[in-house]
Amino acid sequence: DWLDHPGTQSLCAAIEAAGHRALFVGGCVRNSLLGVPVGDVDLATDATPESVVRIAGDAGFKTVPTGIDHGTVTVIAGGEPHEITTFRRDVETDGRRAVVAFSDRIEEDAARRDFTMNALYADRRGIVLDPLGGLPDLKARRVRFVGDPETRIREDYLRILRFFRFHAAYGDPEGGLDAEGLAACAALAGGLDVISRERIRAELKKLLSARDPAPSVAAMAQAGILARVLPGADPRALAPLAHLDAVQPPRWLRRLAVLGGETADLRLSKAETRDLSALRAALGSMETPAALGWRLGRALAADALLARAALLETPLPPAWQAEVERGVAARFPVTAADLMPEHTGEALGARMKQLQARWLASDLTASREALLKGRDKLPRLR
Ligand code: ATP
Ligand code: MG
Repeated sequence: DWLDHPGTQSLCAAIEAAGHRALFVGGCVRNSLLGVPVGDVDLATDATPESVVRIAGDAGFKTVPTGIDHGTVTVIAGGEPHEITTFRRDVETDGRRAVVAFSDRIEEDAARRDFTMNALYADRRGIVLDPLGGLPDLKARRVRFVGDPETRIREDYLRILRFFRFHAAYGDPEGGLDAEGLAACAALAGGLDVISRERIRAELKKLLSARDPAPSVAAMAQAGILARVLPGADPRALAPLAHLDAVQPPRWLRRLAVLGGETADLRLSKAETRDLSALRAALGSMETPAALGWRLGRALAADALLARAALLETPLPPAWQAEVERGVAARFPVTAADLMPEHTGEALGARMKQLQARWLASDLTASREALLKGRDKLPRLR
């Protein structure tokens, strides 16, 4: 239905009327053919960025020169941003990122793309153009490099991670990874060291957000790639987690928590770091679903319980969702006023913490009275 968007259609019509091609490319074409939701809609054209700005402007659209040096112009049509990129070809590379030049040939533009399933185009009538024979690969759900895998990886080592990411998201869940591609990734794994941590983090997030990352991550471990991006990670709990993911929508942080490994290099955001350490701590604890719900909130509590079940290979606790909800809704029954004036300052804080721990240990059932009356120490064993 994104294809039928009136803004998109009139934008493409304007580019065509100026004697140029306006083609959908990449993820939107691939996903539409697979029948899965489309993320961003990208367009490719043989018109130069300057021409795109002029044509779109003349047709009354607002344009933003987002990355005119890279050949990308953003055009707002029908209230939606459209990224239009001029056909490009690879000219040289330092392995960190391919350097590109403009081209007026779709074959050249297709040839610089990473995988055949990402090199599919469609015009505004929905006619698919497949300059490299990507359709059979897409049908077989085979992630295959465009051209020689080793050559393509040397141009941009991030493509190693993209290979596993696209397999996790769109590959054949029953079949393995393309053998030639996998061998090339393993042989050139060391090249990942030159890639910026930001690009690695972005790919890793997408990989761990995919339908079932377990087979891809296991293959990454075997090929010596996992250790380079997540040192110390252990992929074994990912497969049992994937089964549990049917219960709750998959979340990449939950998968990362189960994988373990050193994440300092990934430079996660403050919030992500905080959530990840909360999750990791909860994994090693015996906290009940209600206690987790109260302490961490609904989403993280579910993450912790699913991850723990996967790691320990135990079933989820009975009625865990209802129990998490009970925790989310619960209110700690003691207030500071209850403890004053006997306790003040630091002692007040410490006493609150102590009563909270006791309340959590009672699975949130201890009443205010019981907590306030309760003995400070457990009875001594004789
Ligand atoms: P998603 O739905 O995950 O966004 P996508 O196919 O749109 O998938 P992007 O990373 O947004 O993936 O890239 C858009 C397109 O640009 C790809 O389909 C591919 O053709 C091309 N591309 C992106 N990154 C590279 C790269 N590192 N090397 C070669 N081609 C690339
Ligand atoms: Mg995209």
